[in-house]
Amino acid sequence: MVKVSKFFLFNTLNREVEELKPIHEGKISMYTCGPTVYGRAHIGNMRTYINSDVLKRALIFAGYEVLQVMNVTDVGHLTSDSDEGDDKLQMSAKKEKVSSWDVAKKYTDYFFEDEKELNIIRPSIVCEATKHIKEQIALVKKLEVKGFTYKTSDGVYFDTSEFKDYGKLAKLNIEGLQAGKRIELGEKKNKTDFALWKFSKPDEKRDMEWDSPWGIGFPGWHIECSAMSMKYLGDTFDIHTGGIDHIPIHHTNEIAQAECATGKQFVKYWVHSEFLVLSDDAKMSKSLGNVLTVNTLMEKGYDPLAFRLLCLGTHYRKRLLFDENILIGALNTFNSLKSKIIEIKSAIKGELPEAKTVSGDNLKKFRESIFNDINTSVALAEMWGVIREDSLKPEEKYSLLLEMDKVLGLNFEGMVAEKVVLSKEMKSLLNEREKFRKEKNWKEADRIRDEILSKGFTIKDTSVGPELVKK
Ligand code: AMP
Ligand code: ZN
Repeated sequence: MVKVSKFFLFNTLNREVEELKPIHEGKISMYTCGPTVYGRAHIGNMRTYINSDVLKRALIFAGYEVLQVMNVTDVGHLTSDSDEGDDKLQMSAKKEKVSSWDVAKKYTDYFFEDEKELNIIRPSIVCEATKHIKEQIALVKKLEVKGFTYKTSDGVYFDTSEFKDYGKLAKLNIEGLQAGKRIELGEKKNKTDFALWKFSKPDEKRDMEWDSPWGIGFPGWHIECSAMSMKYLGDTFDIHTGGIDHIPIHHTNEIAQAECATGKQFVKYWVHSEFLVLSDDAKMSKSLGNVLTVNTLMEKGYDPLAFRLLCLGTHYRKRLLFDENILIGALNTFNSLKSKIIEIKSAIKGELPEAKTVSGDNLKKFRESIFNDINTSVALAEMWGVIREDSLKPEEKYSLLLEMDKVLGLNFEGMVAEKVVLSKEMKSLLNEREKFRKEKNWKEADRIRDEILSKGFTIKDTSVGPELVKK
């Protein structure tokens, strides 16, 4: 028997925290809705990916073997949820005067660079929509044979009135939604119907288009996630993650396609991450252009892991308020965490130990909070508890912290004091402070210390004299 810890998760499907009962003992199959690669992902998007990463790490920590699949949406995501408007990638291609393929490659590469900076473990399988056209066509055919589709002049649509459970995830009021349908319906039979396959416009030559039994065109956005998740994880799998905005449309439609095609339950646990919102209530969105990215954070001098720490401080089901002051606060906390970790490491004589379970309350509480719907803020408090615990030896502290870092992903192992090349000015400040200290002129010594601090350094007094460490 595989030994795993009891694990509880909030399941959007039932709106309850439930005990995790995987399909196969000791194993979890997990699908994460990936990025639409038409621009750089913003830090709101990255919050959702950090949360999926923490969930995956937590499951591994609990003893599960996790197979995580993530898609890359490189075609078919239109500017409007009602299947009108342009393909987002094609719009960027036009703007940047390159092909949609170049846009996809460029922003996919950026996305994985950002993931790396945030210490997000790469999913076991990453799959692009454009590389799975055959599977998507096969799924649409299956739905067609079963009578769930109809054709209009611009594509093949899913008839949501044929699926009695339509909208169960979002608890949609279908009758209410269909009201007033005559005005906006166009050729669609129901307002909630959505495109499975869109035809290329007669006067348009798309960079990305394929032949299909219905005509030349491209797949709708939702079908890619149903087709690829079932290809790699089976008709029914354990966990599906994404941001809360996907509940009423994208995930609702994924369920409709998959369950109508197979007649089986698609996903057992739906896990949704709340949004990062700007504190003035503006929505951060790529299309609005008010976007902060991992790259812009780094350009402003923020360590991306400070952003990860900020995300960990708020439960994944709560909104994360964001502004520059909050970020500055997170950076200060991150820097003091970093210097504590470095301090603990430097107090260890001999080789650094590995992660291990040292008995004690902190790790027990840490595990309990993580296994109880990923309560990262309580887990962080336990991490600080270990750092402050006087009764622990530095090597015990470090072992415990490494153990916790398996879930937190803050890269304690990589935290080392940066060697700083001191400018002439800094050297003379440091010497001056030393001189005052020797003269026991504490007032002047402190004044200079404050000046040094204000220039972004901290002073570490070591047995061989003072050293400056970058904050
Ligand atoms: P997209 O690239 O637009 O398909 O979005 C990628 C992921 O980011 C999806 O899971 C979205 O639900 C999620 N997302 C979008 N905006 C935000 C936000 N402001 N905060 C958190 N997650 C978001
Ligand atoms: Zn998806």
